[in-house]
Amino acid sequence: MLVFKFGGASVKDAQGVINLGEVVNSYAGDQILVVVSAMGKTTNSLERLTNAYVNGTEDVHEVFEEIKDYHYQILHELFGETHSVFDEIANTFVEIDWMIEDEPHDDYDFIYDQIVSVGELVSTRIVNAWFNHAGITSKWIDVRGYIHTDNTYREGIVDWDKTRASIQKDIPSFLNKGVVVTQGFLGGTSENFTTTLGREGSDYTASIFAACLNAESVTTWKDVPGILNADPKFFEDTIKFDELSYQEAIEMTYYGASVIHPKTIKPLQNAKIPLLVKSFTHPDAPGTVVKETAIYKFEKPVIIIKQNQVLLSISTIDYSFITEMHLSELFGLFAASQVKINMMQTSALSFTACIDLSVGRFDKLMLSLKEAFKVKYNDNLTLVTLRHYTDDSVVELTAGKTVLLKQTNRNTAQLVVK
Ligand code: ASP
Repeated sequence: MLVFKFGGASVKDAQGVINLGEVVNSYAGDQILVVVSAMGKTTNSLERLTNAYVNGTEDVHEVFEEIKDYHYQILHELFGETHSVFDEIANTFVEIDWMIEDEPHDDYDFIYDQIVSVGELVSTRIVNAWFNHAGITSKWIDVRGYIHTDNTYREGIVDWDKTRASIQKDIPSFLNKGVVVTQGFLGGTSENFTTTLGREGSDYTASIFAACLNAESVTTWKDVPGILNADPKFFEDTIKFDELSYQEAIEMTYYGASVIHPKTIKPLQNAKIPLLVKSFTHPDAPGTVVKETAIYKFEKPVIIIKQNQVLLSISTIDYSFITEMHLSELFGLFAASQVKINMMQTSALSFTACIDLSVGRFDKLMLSLKEAFKVKYNDNLTLVTLRHYTDDSVVELTAGKTVLLKQTNRNTAQLVVK
């Protein structure tokens, strides 16, 4: 059986949904489980909605109307004036209505997951309805009953034993009857609350299903021809890799390459399932294969850009040395605030860390740090990582920029720049 993952860009409009149907149709005869993300930039819009509701950053009802209009426009283009899916979508959106009627009391991350998950719940309803309309036999399943997580909201930790048992119990018989359509990015807790698996988490969802079902392969269908050495949004003259090893793919995602979610590779590597990254506009082109052994030569360095970075400089209140005791305390505070360190350095009197600016978590971290340390920070920075770098490539990339922090080893150079 095959697992297909379609990201937001592939279902950003009615034509995208139609194209998805055509891609799936061209694999008639195969057993296929389809994992779908929220449509277009819906997750970003739902994040805005969450912020509007919790922090009053803008009018929550206006943002919600925008999101609904966008989906109804796609629905009308696909199905005309009436179709049973309209009620299903209305019933899904109403969950947000109920939520925003009350004042926000719960924890931000909890609220975030209950709201943001609606993006995938509606996109999969639309895709499934389209499949049935286009003559593809399919079944919509609610992933929250299959991917079981703990209650770490916004970064649910998967309970693999429970998840494997649920998936293996039902999904093979569903696949015998037709295509299975489900949501990426979501999980469910034992109390039936919704969790998310971290931004871009739909790849991970696909890999969980593939590992539990021992799939032949996972294909993630993208708006790029495969895995490139750099993001074409920032760089011209990118090159595509035909093959990459699991190891290299893990390294790339660790440093922030957004082409695949970082947790995706491990389950596939353990089960030796290849990951194909292919273009949904050129489905017959070979794309990139990520597998155990791969043949490649890095003619150009892999460049990974992470924007919206903050560089923290932390020192002790009495300007004493930073000791192992301090470091241990500091790592505890970062972990408790769920803030990941992208790069770090220690000196006699300070500990420097480069982190993502993530709403909520950053404030929590700052509050806890300030209880025991002096903290200064620079924001609006960019972290540039070069794998298989050359000295020339580092010079070229940092020309005209101020480098605030730099680290190199044999394979990788990292620079925090302004
Ligand atoms: N919709 C989610 C996001 O935009 C998950 C995904 O697309 O993988 O992060």
